Amino acid sequence: MSPLDKEQMQGLRQIRDFLKVRTSYDVLPLSFRLIILDNDLLIKRSLNILIQNSTTPDARLLGPDAEADRTASLDIVSAPIWDSHNSTFAGLLTSTDYINVIQYYCQFPDQLNQIEDFRLNRLRDIEKAIGVVPLETLSVHPMQPLYEACRQMLKTRARRIPLIDVDDETGRQTVVSVITQYRILKFIAVNNENNTVMLKKTVREISLGTYTDLATARMGNTVLDVIHLMVERNISAVPIVDKENRVRNVFEAVDVIPCIKGGVYDELESSVGDALSKRADDFPGIYTCTEEDRLDSIFDTVRKSRVHRLIVVDNESHLKGMISLSDILKYVLLHGEEDEHA
Ligand code: ADP
Repeated sequence: MSPLDKEQMQGLRQIRDFLKVRTSYDVLPLSFRLIILDNDLLIKRSLNILIQNSTTPDARLLGPDAEADRTASLDIVSAPIWDSHNSTFAGLLTSTDYINVIQYYCQFPDQLNQIEDFRLNRLRDIEKAIGVVPLETLSVHPMQPLYEACRQMLKTRARRIPLIDVDDETGRQTVVSVITQYRILKFIAVNNENNTVMLKKTVREISLGTYTDLATARMGNTVLDVIHLMVERNISAVPIVDKENRVRNVFEAVDVIPCIKGGVYDELESSVGDALSKRADDFPGIYTCTEEDRLDSIFDTVRKSRVHRLIVVDNESHLKGMISLSDILKYVLLHGEEDEHA
């Protein structure tokens, strides 16, 4: 093992030790807003609620800690669903559910009127009708070690996990919050500067991300084309490239939500270019890196910005690869694990 490898392994080990002594509870901001949706709510209403709540609050109203608070309140593109008849947690609503509704609409276009009246409690029926395997409704207790929550996330490919507590006396569930891969990586980046500086190997050296068989689209493709691509490949973002394969933008699963606002599906036929031009003013932008960038500089980006994925490009902006948050989390948690236990 070279000294660089040794230092890298030590950095990783220290981050893992940190995750073992922190809980999911520690990741939560001091003050946050939690949107819980009733299982009887109309699906089209849920869309408006998510859209309204995902806008950035006015920084002037937030005071001196505005930056920290902005990142705390952003991220609301999913919500726990509550079954008020049984007082139980009924699953997590995410952009995947809306994509399923769109697929249902594509398969049964004559049922548009019924779709209008669908409530959240019909989401499982929609999954069955279109033949997708339901996502596991995984949850963790907020006081469980964060390391365990991360391992579970990687095992099930969940991008977010609800934190569910149970009242000892009544046995009733409480939804405390939802933690995301984004928030965990941010938490690692902010609290482990001493350790992340040790991660000096480049993206190329550690083969971070995906470089072959990349799914891409052009500005002229329809939103529906891109949605089908995301479903088929089980990915949450598609880079939009020009004919020279230069990166122009990225279409993300969450970009689907404004396209079906108010239960109107016409925009799905519009071009990706049109859909992306309607992004909110506070859209954080896309983040790129090169294969020569080191993991410590990627952690710097995670620390400072609202990054949900990195697009790997060469010096002329040609697309080379994609690094998702799950790729980073997987590397941080699992790299060299087998060797360590051998
Ligand atoms: P996450 O799981 O963090 O939400 P994705 O679903 O986008 O991220 O990524 C899942 C896996 O697919 C990752 O290993 C990532 O490198 C890869 N990937 C992401 N986008 C693409 C793409 N457009 N083409 C091919 N592979 C991709």
